[in-house]
Amino acid sequence: SSVVGVDFGTSSTVIAVARNKGIDVITNEVSNRATPTLVGFGAKSRYLGEAAKTQEISNLKNTVGSLKRLAGRSLNDPDVQVEKQYVGAKLVDINGQVGAEVNYLGKPEQFTATQLTAMFLNKVKAITAAEIKIPVSDIVIAVPPWFTDAQRRSILDAAEITGLKVLRLINENTAVALGYGITKLDLPAPGETPRRVVFVDIGHSSYTCTIVEFRKGELNVKSAAWDRHFGGRDFDKALVDYFAKEFKEKYKIDIFTNPKAVTRVAAACEKLKKILSANAQAPISIESLMNDVDVSGQLKRDELEALLQPLLDRVTVPLEEVLADAKLKPEDIDSIEMVGGCTRVPALKDRISKFFNKPLSYTLNQDEAVARGSAFACAILSPAFRVRDFAVHDIVSYPIEFKWEKSPDIPDEDTNLTVFNKGNTMPSTKILTFYRKQTFDLEAQYAKPEQLPGKTTPWIGRFSVKGVKADSKDDFMICKLKARLNLHGVLNVETGYYIEEVEVEEPIPEDKDAEKKDGEAMEADDSKPKTRKVKKQVRKGDLPISSATASLDEQTKQALAEKEGLMFMEDKLVSDTEDKKNELESYIYELRGKIDEQFSEFASEDEKTKLKEKLESSEDWLYEDGEDATKAAYIAKMDEIRFVAGPIVARYMDKIEEERQATLKIEEE
Ligand code: ATP
Ligand code: MG
Repeated sequence: SSVVGVDFGTSSTVIAVARNKGIDVITNEVSNRATPTLVGFGAKSRYLGEAAKTQEISNLKNTVGSLKRLAGRSLNDPDVQVEKQYVGAKLVDINGQVGAEVNYLGKPEQFTATQLTAMFLNKVKAITAAEIKIPVSDIVIAVPPWFTDAQRRSILDAAEITGLKVLRLINENTAVALGYGITKLDLPAPGETPRRVVFVDIGHSSYTCTIVEFRKGELNVKSAAWDRHFGGRDFDKALVDYFAKEFKEKYKIDIFTNPKAVTRVAAACEKLKKILSANAQAPISIESLMNDVDVSGQLKRDELEALLQPLLDRVTVPLEEVLADAKLKPEDIDSIEMVGGCTRVPALKDRISKFFNKPLSYTLNQDEAVARGSAFACAILSPAFRVRDFAVHDIVSYPIEFKWEKSPDIPDEDTNLTVFNKGNTMPSTKILTFYRKQTFDLEAQYAKPEQLPGKTTPWIGRFSVKGVKADSKDDFMICKLKARLNLHGVLNVETGYYIEEVEVEEPIPEDKDAEKKDGEAMEADDSKPKTRKVKKQVRKGDLPISSATASLDEQTKQALAEKEGLMFMEDKLVSDTEDKKNELESYIYELRGKIDEQFSEFASEDEKTKLKEKLESSEDWLYEDGEDATKAAYIAKMDEIRFVAGPIVARYMDKIEEERQATLKIEEE
């Protein structure tokens, strides 16, 4: 089966696969190593990835980006409100989840962020399948450590809708750390002082730093900190604001009255920003930006840095946090590994390097490290692949508590308990014990809502424990519930069972202490081994649990999977039809070119006339009735032409073959 790692980025997505030779980043249909994380909608089909990017400016209202920032969130969330300025399509509320309204197949349609993410992941799947030529199923997807339960479940649902099996949702920097550690042969031995590395990822929309300790064969995440609103697009925005003002003064145009103009200026500013990472000065120029006005300008690097000042002042905040959380000082850090597109910005590099008082390290491929690490994670989990063992211990990002109703029979019982603390190892399983005489519910929620992104609800799930009753002596049932924060960072109450405490006789283990203290007694009792009575917990039966979480229910997921499958087939039909049309067009041109040349001596005048007439009528058809025909119609038209051209082409081919045979004979002689 497939071994795939995906860096699902805000601006672009990178796919890596494990093959027998190692981990490779794969290219998409236009040979790019990164695919725009974008979906678009048209009158006949969807545009996914590169196609959406190509259409973006002309199809802004029907193009949706920021998928990663929308999945699993609600429209009224202030974080989502921020996305409005980056998303061309209209954002809407769909049963509590944010979605987009677009014009698709000629009518308005709404899709949830989960569905939109599924559409994009289906493209990721297709790109991968085209490259590895086996069905794609097992996959690891990287997400930011600040993703909540609902966000993670949305990505998992989206993957499931497309038939992908997510072996792990991995925190981005943890994936990077894995890729770093698994290839290092000089890590400290167990018991020695670990190598401490801080991984800094500054991408298009967010900034994360993570401290990781490495020893031979394992990594331990110690702490992670982030700024969810710090990335390349914030730099671009500062530039757009600057040039909008300049163009207003210089050309009397207000780009903010024209969304297309804003998008074009943003694209030009991004380009300018990249040039300024390597040059002291850079130009900007856009033809016919709006109202037929051409604009141009330029910027110096120090001017850019002045514009970015407010952002630059924030760059050390997560660094301070991540050290404080790990109880470390800058001098405790052995290496600072930089990844993400924005870590090329000189002003950022300077500040981070100064903070640690150390040069930065760029040993990893900045753009591909997350995807490569994710592919390693997939390889470790996949039965299809053998890799060196490497243990990955991540941490809990937000504390999680359980709440329940007080049992009527236990008046002084607590009604909540923080079960997973921030910084605890993840994945992690905890057994909760309840004394109950009837069915009961418990609820899981984030214990510190103020730490969550935006206005995320702290609610995680409700778990109803069935089959609980008092025993024959009207005693409590001792209920055990297995709560697990799993590999994905998603919380579930996985199983429930009840136990009985029974008294059993068990032989006393003969430890040395007992021998010393009580040597004589030991001797006296030589004939029969000493036993004692102990209470033992015996599992008596299962307690069914029904869960309500942010995940989609099976039925909805099935329906969405079917819908996605249909849309995917339709897209394929549209693109196949387009291919057949192009094929027909070039066939007509090819024959027309050859009829009086190569084919000339193999056709009678009458045949030539007939073929020419056929080509002409076919071409007329192609530009009139056949402009928008079905795949079958193009194939039929092609066959019609072949019927006329066939005998001529056959004679020509015979001649060629004859000549080839003759040449062969000569060579033999
Ligand atoms: P995120 O990690 O926030 O979800 P992402 O993974 O899509 O987003 P990256 O691909 O790491 O983000 O980085 C993209 C950003 O890096 C873009 O804003 C891009 O303009 C910026 N960038 C890329 N190259 C350079 C450069 N040479 N100089 C400055 N910025 C750059
Ligand atoms: Mg990224």
